[in-house]
Amino acid sequence: MLEEQLKKVIRDIPDFPQPGIVFKDITPILKDQMLCKEIVREFERHLEGVKLDAIAGIESRGFLFGMMLANQLDVPFVPIRKQGKLPFKTISESYKLEYGQATIEIHEDAFEAGKNILIHDDLLATGGTVVAASKLIEKLGGNIVGYSFVISLDFLQSHGRLTRFSDNIVSLVH
Ligand code: IMP
Repeated sequence: MLEEQLKKVIRDIPDFPQPGIVFKDITPILKDQMLCKEIVREFERHLEGVKLDAIAGIESRGFLFGMMLANQLDVPFVPIRKQGKLPFKTISESYKLEYGQATIEIHEDAFEAGKNILIHDDLLATGGTVVAASKLIEKLGGNIVGYSFVISLDFLQSHGRLTRFSDNIVSLVH
């Protein structure tokens, strides 16, 4: 089963990037190209019947499978990046972190209003990042048709924060 395979290779890194945090390291997945293909196929299966026009991936690990999936589904990829990284005109959204705040941005011409957008990231924790990403998509007139994550930290119970945008939430590892 894919979830079991993924659990075997995802590494727990204690005290990264700060003491007290156990970081889920997905980089060992990337060493196995067959596993990467299987991940993309599994997302594709879950998204069967969903009409989508583009996939928006969140910097930086959301670019990995977000781009692979966009390519597989033959739709454009839209990068959402941390503040100051996108070169053209942007709109931004700030959100609270445990300590301080973060800002993410999207190019204002990333897609046309009315398009159906799937938001992808490697991991769902508190949901703060994808809620901010969702607001960016909606500011540009996009219609959020779902979310895909490789990992969802279910104990943080953040699915509820996303359902006001879309209840189509796919996570491969819980
Ligand atoms: P959230 O905003 O609290 O949901 O955090 C999710 C964001 O932080 C995503 O963009 C993840 O890439 C990143 N993140 C948080 N914890 C981890 C982790 O343990 N492994 C990998 N990424 C993480």
